[in-house]
Amino acid sequence: MKLNCPSCSNGILKPTKLEPGLPALSCGKCSGVLISMLSYRAWLEESSYQNINPAKTSIEVDDTEHAMACPKCRNFMTKYRVSDKGINRLDSCGSCGELWIDSGEWELLASLNLTKSISSILSQPWQKQIALREADKKNEQKVLGVLGEQDYLKVKDLKGWLSSHPEKEVIMRYLLRKNH
Ligand SMILES: [Zn+2]
Ligand SMILES: [Zn+2]
Repeated sequence: MKLNCPSCSNGILKPTKLEPGLPALSCGKCSGVLISMLSYRAWLEESSYQNINPAKTSIEVDDTEHAMACPKCRNFMTKYRVSDKGINRLDSCGSCGELWIDSGEWELLASLNLTKSISSILSQPWQKQIALREADKKNEQKVLGVLGEQDYLKVKDLKGWLSSHPEKEVIMRYLLRKNH
């Protein structure tokens, strides 16, 4: 069966190996790869295969922005953020368990020490954590915007000091108490 690349649509997927013992289908055009979660899990269980190439210092990573159709069943694949530090997402087909990894994303996973954590990445808790951290970041930006850098840093300092203070509650009450 000839499979077309879900990312660049002109490429044809050809059998390759992502790691020793981890079969994949790779696109000659965009260098993205398709792996099946079944072979991924089998690879994980083979301890001898767990020596992953050391991460390179600078990685060129692609991320397919458009929604992708699974090359096997044509259903839309779901995008999963890898971390809150970059925009990269893995595309997974829930119905046939295929995973699309854009060019450089495997190396990115390796650099984050996450090549063995793909199942976790594809989970709700992981995705929720990223969403929460994003919300936190946005909130910090908002406060920074309102206060300006100097006061923001002062407040951040105070917050850090306060969070580990044994009399935190007393200080909070004191700070919030209105003086009449
Ligand atoms: Zn391609
Ligand atoms: Zn599919």
